[in-house]
This record gives sequence, structure tokens and C-alpha cells, in this order.
Amino acid sequence: MSEQACRNCNKIIGSKNSKSCPVCHLTSFSSDWAGYVIIIDATRSQIAKRLNIEIPGKYALKVR
Ligand SMILES: [Zn+2]
Repeated sequence: MSEQACRNCNKIIGSKNSKSCPVCHLTSFSSDWAGYVIIIDATRSQIAKRLNIEIPGKYALKVR
């Protein structure tokens, strides 16, 4: 799997532009992650609330 996930907020980042996380701006990524959700409306999504996601996008469920 070439995509990486942010260790801080679980945002999945494509391998091309992985200098810093577009959500939290940290630079700690892991390629060892499992499952993902796509959040479209963060204010209405129960999953987004549970994962503390405020910005729509693709997020890993588990990042190791
Ligand atoms: Zn992040």
C-alpha cells in the first residue's frame, strides 16, 4: 500500500504530496494503517465525531 496515514489525525495522504499533513500540518506518517472512512459532512457524521474529524476527507480507522 503506497498511501500513508497521519499518526496524529489519521488523515490518509497520497504518497505524492506527503511533506506535511493537510489537516494538522504535522509530518509524522505511517504506512501501517488499516481500514478507512470517507467523511463528506463532518458536522453530521457520527464517525467523524467519534474520530474527532472536523475536515472532510479520507481517514484511516487504525494507525499503528
Ligand atoms: Zn494529521
